[in-house]
Amino acid sequence: MIGGNVISAISPQGRFAEGAAVINGATCEGTGAVGKHLLYHFSNGQTLHIHLGLGGYFVCQSQPADPPRDVVRIRLESATHCIDIIGPNTCELMPTAEMPAFTLRYGPDLLSDTPEPERAIAAIRKSRAPIARLLMDQKVISGIGNIYRAEILWLRKLNPMTRGVDIDADDLRDLWDEMRQLLQIGVETNAIITNGNVDMTGEEITERTNIFARDFCPTCGGAIEKSKLSGRTLYHCPKCQA
Ligand SMILES: [Zn+2]
Repeated sequence: MIGGNVISAISPQGRFAEGAAVINGATCEGTGAVGKHLLYHFSNGQTLHIHLGLGGYFVCQSQPADPPRDVVRIRLESATHCIDIIGPNTCELMPTAEMPAFTLRYGPDLLSDTPEPERAIAAIRKSRAPIARLLMDQKVISGIGNIYRAEILWLRKLNPMTRGVDIDADDLRDLWDEMRQLLQIGVETNAIITNGNVDMTGEEITERTNIFARDFCPTCGGAIEKSKLSGRTLYHCPKCQA
């Protein structure tokens, strides 16, 4: 565990040597996430902000850990655990006092322990942008990727191009609740499962979706329409999501 422990921090790669020196020897008082931003709060008033981006990744080990590879941007070690962060998009320190403002720059996180659906619903309902765009806008809501976007809109029978302002708050509450359940299934199974088939016994864990990257709608049998929105492929059933 890193949280609650005195941490030694080094930057084997050297690119974060100064930052690592600032938190080296401090206690990690807690960790958090805002969307895909990971936060480590330290006892000296500094927060380490990590965003992995597309190519970044973590390697976690129990102690004694292997020596770090020289691509490791930062290594965080407690007496029992070691985390290497490699190739992150963002690796920076910021004052913990600035965290409330930082958090507000991002939409509520669907997986947060203190969910704030009303903030996301208000942001959606004041926008004329299509719901398919709003769901992937980190300023509006955090946690939905391209697969979940297609699936949740299909499950809620929502046309992806419906403007945020035209959707009832109650419908958005239902969308939030169902999306949160799907993400929790994802965390528990480590797989994207949106078709209700969560029994993993004896089976290979793979994506189980309804319409994402599929040709035909499982409900009506009609052709799934593929289009581009914000550079990502959007799937929807023109009949079920009219
Ligand atoms: Zn359909």
